[in-house]
Amino acid sequence: MMTIPFVDLNAQYNSIKIEIDEAIRLVIDEAAFIGGFSNRFVNSFENNFSDFLEGSNFASCANGTDSLEIILKAFNIGPGDEVLVPALSWISTAECVSNIGAKPVFVDIKENSFTIDENLLTTKVNKNTRAIIPVHLYGQSCEMDTILEIAKSNGLIVIEDCAQSHGARYKGILTGTMGDASSFSFYPGKNLGAYGDAGGFSIKRADIFEKAKQIANHGQKKKHIHVLTGRNSRLDGIQAAVLDVKLKFLNEWNFKRRKIANRYIDFLSNSEIKLPVAFANCEHVYHLFVIRVKNRDYLANQLSKKGISTSIHYPTPIPRMEAFNYLNIPAGIFPVAGHACDEILSLPIYPEITEPEVQFVCDSIINVLK
Ligand SMILES: *Cc1c(COP(=O)(O)O)cnc(C)c1O
Repeated sequence: MMTIPFVDLNAQYNSIKIEIDEAIRLVIDEAAFIGGFSNRFVNSFENNFSDFLEGSNFASCANGTDSLEIILKAFNIGPGDEVLVPALSWISTAECVSNIGAKPVFVDIKENSFTIDENLLTTKVNKNTRAIIPVHLYGQSCEMDTILEIAKSNGLIVIEDCAQSHGARYKGILTGTMGDASSFSFYPGKNLGAYGDAGGFSIKRADIFEKAKQIANHGQKKKHIHVLTGRNSRLDGIQAAVLDVKLKFLNEWNFKRRKIANRYIDFLSNSEIKLPVAFANCEHVYHLFVIRVKNRDYLANQLSKKGISTSIHYPTPIPRMEAFNYLNIPAGIFPVAGHACDEILSLPIYPEITEPEVQFVCDSIINVLK
Protein backbone atom coordinates (compact mmCIF):
# COMPACT_ATOMS: atom_id res chain seq x y z
CA MET A 1 0.00 0.00 0.00
CA MET A 2 1.16 3.51 -0.81
CA THR A 3 0.93 6.05 2.00
CA ILE A 4 0.39 9.56 0.74
CA PRO A 5 0.41 12.33 3.34
CA PHE A 6 -1.51 15.54 2.79
CA VAL A 7 1.75 17.49 2.82
CA ASP A 8 5.28 16.20 3.27
CA LEU A 9 7.44 18.84 4.91
CA ASN A 10 10.17 16.28 5.58
CA ALA A 11 10.60 15.51 1.90
CA GLN A 12 11.16 19.19 1.28
CA TYR A 13 13.58 19.53 4.19
CA ASN A 14 15.59 16.56 2.90
CA SER A 15 15.94 18.23 -0.48
CA ILE A 16 17.61 21.33 1.04
CA LYS A 17 18.89 19.91 4.34
CA ILE A 18 22.51 21.01 4.04
CA GLU A 19 21.65 24.64 3.38
CA ILE A 20 18.94 24.77 6.04
CA ASP A 21 21.08 23.18 8.73
CA GLU A 22 23.91 25.59 8.00
CA ALA A 23 21.55 28.59 8.06
CA ILE A 24 20.09 27.57 11.43
CA ARG A 25 23.54 26.88 12.84
CA LEU A 26 24.67 30.39 11.91
CA VAL A 27 21.73 31.99 13.73
CA ILE A 28 22.51 30.02 16.87
CA ASP A 29 26.22 30.74 16.52
CA GLU A 30 25.51 34.46 16.46
CA ALA A 31 22.68 34.21 19.02
CA ALA A 32 20.63 36.26 16.56
CA PHE A 33 17.36 34.89 17.86
CA ILE A 34 14.93 37.78 17.81
CA GLY A 35 14.11 40.27 15.07
CA GLY A 36 13.82 43.98 15.71
CA PHE A 37 16.11 46.65 14.42
CA SER A 38 19.33 44.85 13.63
CA ASN A 39 18.97 41.15 13.05
CA ARG A 40 20.86 40.43 9.85
CA PHE A 41 18.87 37.26 9.12
CA VAL A 42 15.56 39.06 9.46
CA ASN A 43 16.82 42.03 7.44
CA SER A 44 18.09 39.76 4.71
CA PHE A 45 14.81 37.91 4.38
CA GLU A 46 12.84 41.17 4.38
CA ASN A 47 15.04 42.56 1.59
CA ASN A 48 14.82 39.39 -0.45
CA PHE A 49 11.06 39.10 -0.04
CA SER A 50 10.72 42.73 -1.05
CA ASP A 51 12.67 41.84 -4.21
CA PHE A 52 10.35 38.89 -4.71
CA LEU A 53 7.47 41.39 -4.53
CA GLU A 54 9.22 43.27 -7.34
CA GLY A 55 10.25 46.14 -5.10
CA SER A 56 7.15 46.56 -2.92
CA ASN A 57 8.11 47.29 0.67
CA PHE A 58 7.95 44.36 3.06
CA ALA A 59 8.32 43.89 6.79
CA SER A 60 8.13 40.68 8.77
CA CYS A 61 6.14 39.87 11.88
CA ALA A 62 5.32 36.84 13.98
CA ASN A 63 2.55 35.28 11.86
CA GLY A 64 -0.08 35.90 9.20
CA THR A 65 -2.86 36.63 11.67
CA ASP A 66 -0.84 39.36 13.39
CA SER A 67 0.03 40.87 10.02
CA LEU A 68 -3.66 41.34 9.20
CA GLU A 69 -4.37 42.87 12.59
CA ILE A 70 -1.32 45.11 12.42
CA ILE A 71 -2.37 46.41 9.00
CA LEU A 72 -5.91 47.18 10.23
CA LYS A 73 -4.50 48.98 13.28
CA ALA A 74 -2.02 50.95 11.20
CA PHE A 75 -4.92 52.22 9.07
CA ASN A 76 -6.74 53.22 12.27
CA ILE A 77 -9.60 50.85 11.67
CA GLY A 78 -11.42 50.00 14.89
CA PRO A 79 -14.71 50.24 16.79
CA GLY A 80 -17.61 51.47 14.64
CA ASP A 81 -15.91 50.42 11.42
CA GLU A 82 -16.93 47.58 9.12
CA VAL A 83 -14.66 45.40 7.01
CA LEU A 84 -15.83 43.18 4.15
CA VAL A 85 -14.46 39.65 4.26
CA PRO A 86 -15.27 36.44 2.36
CA ALA A 87 -17.54 33.86 3.98
CA LEU A 88 -15.03 31.13 3.14
CA SER A 89 -11.44 31.44 4.37
CA TRP A 90 -9.26 30.52 7.31
CA ILE A 91 -10.73 32.20 10.42
CA SER A 92 -7.89 34.76 10.64
CA THR A 93 -9.37 36.82 7.80
CA ALA A 94 -12.39 37.67 9.98
CA GLU A 95 -10.86 37.16 13.41
CA CYS A 96 -8.43 40.05 12.86
CA VAL A 97 -11.39 42.38 12.28
CA SER A 98 -13.15 41.32 15.48
CA ASN A 99 -9.92 41.53 17.44
CA ILE A 100 -9.40 45.20 16.64
CA GLY A 101 -13.00 45.97 17.64
CA ALA A 102 -14.41 46.44 14.15
CA LYS A 103 -17.23 44.41 12.60
CA PRO A 104 -16.55 41.73 10.00
CA VAL A 105 -19.21 41.86 7.29
CA PHE A 106 -19.29 38.61 5.40
CA VAL A 107 -19.71 38.36 1.64
CA ASP A 108 -20.58 35.10 -0.13
CA ILE A 109 -18.13 33.46 -2.51
CA LYS A 110 -18.30 32.60 -6.19
CA GLU A 111 -19.20 29.10 -7.29
CA ASN A 112 -16.35 28.72 -9.78
CA SER A 113 -13.43 30.21 -7.82
CA PHE A 114 -14.41 30.01 -4.11
CA THR A 115 -13.16 33.60 -3.75
CA ILE A 116 -15.16 36.60 -2.57
CA ASP A 117 -18.02 37.48 -4.95
CA GLU A 118 -17.08 40.94 -6.15
CA ASN A 119 -20.59 41.40 -7.55
CA LEU A 120 -22.04 41.37 -4.03
CA LEU A 121 -19.64 43.90 -2.54
CA THR A 122 -21.65 47.06 -3.18
CA THR A 123 -24.73 45.56 -1.52
CA LYS A 124 -22.71 45.38 1.72
CA VAL A 125 -21.14 48.83 1.65
CA ASN A 126 -22.48 51.51 4.00
CA LYS A 127 -21.12 54.64 5.62
CA ASN A 128 -19.18 52.59 8.19
CA THR A 129 -17.39 50.39 5.68
CA ARG A 130 -13.66 51.04 5.69
CA ALA A 131 -11.92 48.13 4.00
CA ILE A 132 -12.18 44.93 1.96
CA ILE A 133 -9.99 41.89 2.62
CA PRO A 134 -9.97 39.78 -0.54
CA VAL A 135 -8.38 36.37 0.05
CA HIS A 136 -6.59 34.76 -2.90
CA LEU A 137 -7.93 31.44 -1.71
CA TYR A 138 -6.21 28.17 -2.59
CA GLY A 139 -3.57 30.10 -4.55
CA GLN A 140 -5.61 31.91 -7.21
CA SER A 141 -6.17 35.65 -7.33
CA CYS A 142 -9.53 37.27 -6.70
CA GLU A 143 -11.08 39.40 -9.45
CA MET A 144 -8.94 42.36 -8.51
CA ASP A 145 -9.90 44.88 -11.21
CA THR A 146 -13.49 44.97 -10.02
CA ILE A 147 -12.54 44.88 -6.34
CA LEU A 148 -10.09 47.78 -6.73
CA GLU A 149 -12.63 49.77 -8.72
CA ILE A 150 -15.38 49.30 -6.12
CA ALA A 151 -12.92 50.17 -3.36
CA LYS A 152 -11.87 53.31 -5.15
CA SER A 153 -15.37 54.57 -5.81
CA ASN A 154 -16.36 53.94 -2.18
CA GLY A 155 -13.16 55.16 -0.53
CA LEU A 156 -12.28 51.73 0.86
CA ILE A 157 -8.89 50.27 1.67
CA VAL A 158 -8.00 46.97 0.00
CA ILE A 159 -5.98 44.52 2.10
CA GLU A 160 -4.96 41.45 0.12
CA ASP A 161 -4.74 38.29 2.21
CA CYS A 162 -1.91 36.49 0.40
CA ALA A 163 -1.44 33.70 2.94
CA GLN A 164 -2.15 31.14 0.21
CA SER A 165 -0.92 32.98 -2.87
CA HIS A 166 2.84 33.63 -2.71
CA GLY A 167 3.83 34.21 -6.33
CA ALA A 168 0.32 34.04 -7.81
CA ARG A 169 -0.50 36.60 -10.48
CA TYR A 170 -3.56 38.39 -11.81
CA LYS A 171 -3.25 39.70 -15.38
CA GLY A 172 0.50 39.36 -14.94
CA ILE A 173 0.56 41.38 -11.72
CA LEU A 174 1.76 39.75 -8.51
CA THR A 175 -0.76 39.23 -5.74
CA GLY A 176 0.30 41.32 -2.80
CA THR A 177 1.19 44.31 -4.97
CA MET A 178 -2.28 45.44 -6.07
CA GLY A 179 -4.05 46.54 -2.90
CA ASP A 180 -3.26 49.29 -0.40
CA ALA A 181 -1.72 46.60 1.77
CA SER A 182 -1.11 42.89 1.73
CA SER A 183 -0.62 40.26 4.36
CA PHE A 184 1.51 37.11 4.16
CA SER A 185 1.68 34.02 6.31
CA PHE A 186 4.70 31.73 6.32
CA TYR A 187 3.08 29.01 8.40
CA PRO A 188 5.00 25.77 7.66
CA GLY A 189 2.46 24.35 5.22
CA LYS A 190 2.09 27.46 3.04
CA ASN A 191 3.79 27.66 -0.36
CA LEU A 192 6.63 29.48 1.41
CA GLY A 193 6.70 28.13 4.93
CA ALA A 194 8.99 28.59 7.93
CA TYR A 195 9.77 25.99 10.59
CA GLY A 196 7.39 27.65 13.00
CA ASP A 197 5.05 30.64 12.82
CA ALA A 198 6.02 33.59 10.64
CA GLY A 199 4.33 36.37 8.68
CA GLY A 200 4.73 39.78 7.13
CA PHE A 201 3.11 42.68 5.34
CA SER A 202 3.50 45.22 2.59
CA ILE A 203 1.80 48.64 2.70
CA LYS A 204 1.90 51.17 -0.14
CA ARG A 205 1.69 54.34 1.97
CA ALA A 206 5.14 54.87 3.48
CA ASP A 207 3.87 56.54 6.68
CA ILE A 208 1.41 53.73 7.39
CA PHE A 209 4.07 51.14 6.60
CA GLU A 210 6.34 52.77 9.19
CA LYS A 211 3.53 52.79 11.72
CA ALA A 212 2.78 49.11 11.08
CA LYS A 213 6.43 48.22 11.67
CA GLN A 214 6.31 50.12 14.93
CA ILE A 215 3.13 48.33 16.02
CA ALA A 216 4.85 44.99 15.41
CA ASN A 217 7.77 45.97 17.64
CA HIS A 218 6.26 47.50 20.81
CA GLY A 219 5.61 50.84 19.16
CA GLN A 220 9.32 51.54 18.92
CA LYS A 221 10.59 54.03 16.40
CA LYS A 222 14.13 53.44 17.59
CA LYS A 223 15.38 51.28 20.41
CA HIS A 224 13.70 52.49 23.63
CA ILE A 225 11.75 55.20 21.80
CA HIS A 226 8.16 53.97 22.10
CA VAL A 227 5.88 56.28 20.13
CA LEU A 228 2.75 54.17 20.48
CA THR A 229 1.56 51.05 22.27
CA GLY A 230 2.15 48.18 19.94
CA ARG A 231 2.75 44.52 20.52
CA ASN A 232 5.40 41.85 20.39
CA SER A 233 5.12 40.45 16.90
CA ARG A 234 8.69 40.00 15.69
CA LEU A 235 9.98 37.38 13.32
CA ASP A 236 12.72 35.30 14.93
CA GLY A 237 16.14 34.79 13.42
CA ILE A 238 15.81 31.05 12.83
CA GLN A 239 12.55 31.45 10.91
CA ALA A 240 14.04 34.27 8.84
CA ALA A 241 17.11 32.19 7.99
CA VAL A 242 14.94 29.22 6.98
CA LEU A 243 12.67 31.43 4.88
CA ASP A 244 15.64 33.06 3.19
CA VAL A 245 16.93 29.66 2.06
CA LYS A 246 13.50 28.49 0.95
CA LEU A 247 12.60 31.69 -0.91
CA LYS A 248 15.18 30.82 -3.58
CA PHE A 249 13.14 27.74 -4.44
CA LEU A 250 9.67 29.27 -4.30
CA ASN A 251 9.21 29.84 -8.03
CA GLU A 252 10.45 26.34 -8.82
CA TRP A 253 8.14 24.85 -6.19
CA ASN A 254 5.17 26.83 -7.50
CA PHE A 255 6.00 25.58 -11.01
CA LYS A 256 5.95 22.01 -9.70
CA ARG A 257 2.63 22.59 -7.94
CA ARG A 258 1.15 23.76 -11.24
CA LYS A 259 2.49 20.69 -12.99
CA ILE A 260 0.98 18.40 -10.37
CA ALA A 261 -2.34 20.25 -10.57
CA ASN A 262 -2.36 19.75 -14.33
CA ARG A 263 -1.75 16.03 -13.84
CA TYR A 264 -4.72 15.87 -11.47
CA ILE A 265 -6.81 17.75 -13.99
CA ASP A 266 -5.80 15.36 -16.79
CA PHE A 267 -6.37 12.20 -14.77
CA LEU A 268 -9.63 13.27 -13.15
CA SER A 269 -11.34 15.11 -15.96
CA ASN A 270 -13.60 12.27 -17.03
CA SER A 271 -15.15 11.59 -13.67
CA GLU A 272 -18.09 13.15 -11.86
CA ILE A 273 -15.77 15.48 -10.02
CA LYS A 274 -15.83 19.25 -10.27
CA LEU A 275 -12.24 20.30 -10.78
CA PRO A 276 -10.78 23.65 -9.75
CA VAL A 277 -11.06 26.28 -12.45
CA ALA A 278 -7.82 28.04 -13.35
CA PHE A 279 -8.58 31.32 -15.08
CA ALA A 280 -6.61 32.20 -18.20
CA ASN A 281 -5.72 35.64 -16.82
CA CYS A 282 -4.47 34.23 -13.51
CA GLU A 283 -1.32 32.38 -12.59
CA HIS A 284 -2.55 29.88 -9.99
CA VAL A 285 0.03 28.64 -7.45
CA TYR A 286 -2.12 25.78 -6.11
CA HIS A 287 -1.53 26.14 -2.42
CA LEU A 288 -4.42 23.68 -2.33
CA PHE A 289 -6.01 21.48 -4.98
CA VAL A 290 -9.68 21.48 -4.09
CA ILE A 291 -12.20 19.28 -5.87
CA ARG A 292 -15.96 19.12 -5.36
CA VAL A 293 -17.94 15.90 -5.03
CA LYS A 294 -21.45 15.15 -3.77
CA ASN A 295 -20.43 12.28 -1.48
CA ARG A 296 -17.37 14.02 -0.09
CA ASP A 297 -17.21 12.37 3.34
CA TYR A 298 -17.56 8.89 1.85
CA LEU A 299 -14.79 9.60 -0.65
CA ALA A 300 -12.46 10.99 2.03
CA ASN A 301 -13.04 7.91 4.21
CA GLN A 302 -12.40 5.46 1.41
CA LEU A 303 -9.22 7.30 0.39
CA SER A 304 -8.03 7.26 3.97
CA LYS A 305 -8.44 3.46 4.00
CA LYS A 306 -6.16 3.34 0.97
CA GLY A 307 -3.51 5.39 2.79
CA ILE A 308 -4.32 8.73 1.15
CA SER A 309 -4.72 11.75 3.41
CA THR A 310 -7.06 14.53 2.36
CA SER A 311 -8.36 17.60 4.12
CA ILE A 312 -11.20 20.14 3.99
CA HIS A 313 -10.57 23.86 3.55
CA TYR A 314 -12.88 24.67 5.16
CA PRO A 315 -15.76 22.62 6.60
CA THR A 316 -17.72 25.64 7.90
CA PRO A 317 -18.29 29.13 6.47
CA ILE A 318 -16.74 31.60 8.93
CA PRO A 319 -20.06 33.38 9.69
CA ARG A 320 -21.48 30.00 10.77
CA MET A 321 -18.77 29.42 13.37
CA GLU A 322 -19.80 29.71 17.01
CA ALA A 323 -17.18 32.42 17.45
CA PHE A 324 -19.28 34.75 15.30
CA ASN A 325 -22.67 34.01 16.90
CA TYR A 326 -22.40 37.43 18.52
CA LEU A 327 -23.07 39.00 15.13
CA ASN A 328 -26.54 37.37 14.98
CA ILE A 329 -26.28 36.71 11.28
CA PRO A 330 -29.54 35.31 9.89
CA ALA A 331 -29.45 31.72 8.60
CA GLY A 332 -29.09 30.96 4.93
CA ILE A 333 -27.52 34.10 3.54
CA PHE A 334 -24.29 32.49 2.31
CA PRO A 335 -25.75 29.77 0.08
CA VAL A 336 -22.71 29.37 -2.16
CA ALA A 337 -20.21 29.04 0.68
CA GLY A 338 -22.58 26.81 2.66
CA HIS A 339 -23.07 24.42 -0.22
CA ALA A 340 -19.36 24.41 -1.08
CA CYS A 341 -18.40 23.47 2.47
CA ASP A 342 -20.40 20.23 2.12
CA GLU A 343 -18.66 19.19 -1.08
CA ILE A 344 -15.07 20.43 -1.12
CA LEU A 345 -12.13 18.12 -0.62
CA SER A 346 -8.45 19.09 -0.73
CA LEU A 347 -6.20 16.48 -2.35
CA PRO A 348 -2.52 16.05 -1.46
CA ILE A 349 -0.41 18.62 -3.29
CA TYR A 350 3.19 19.55 -2.55
CA PRO A 351 6.20 20.02 -4.82
CA GLU A 352 7.75 16.68 -3.86
CA ILE A 353 4.75 14.44 -4.58
CA THR A 354 5.67 12.05 -7.39
CA GLU A 355 3.79 11.34 -10.58
CA PRO A 356 3.04 7.69 -9.59
CA GLU A 357 1.64 9.00 -6.30
CA VAL A 358 -0.63 11.47 -8.10
CA GLN A 359 -1.67 8.66 -10.44
CA PHE A 360 -2.46 6.45 -7.43
CA VAL A 361 -4.61 9.18 -5.83
CA CYS A 362 -6.52 9.64 -9.09
CA ASP A 363 -7.01 5.92 -9.73
CA SER A 364 -8.23 5.51 -6.16
CA ILE A 365 -10.72 8.37 -6.50
CA ILE A 366 -12.08 7.02 -9.77
CA ASN A 367 -12.36 3.56 -8.23
CA VAL A 368 -14.22 4.79 -5.16
CA LEU A 369 -16.68 6.84 -7.15
CA LYS A 370 -17.48 4.17 -9.71
C1 LIG B 1 -2.81 30.68 7.05
C2 LIG B 1 -3.75 31.80 6.81
C3 LIG B 1 -3.77 32.95 7.62
C4 LIG B 1 -3.06 33.07 8.93
O1 LIG B 1 -1.76 32.82 8.96
P1 LIG B 1 -1.00 32.37 10.31
O2 LIG B 1 0.41 32.61 9.95
O3 LIG B 1 -1.32 30.93 10.52
O4 LIG B 1 -1.47 33.23 11.42
C5 LIG B 1 -4.57 34.01 7.24
N1 LIG B 1 -5.35 33.93 6.15
C6 LIG B 1 -5.40 32.83 5.37
C7 LIG B 1 -6.28 32.83 4.16
C8 LIG B 1 -4.61 31.72 5.68
O5 LIG B 1 -4.66 30.64 4.89
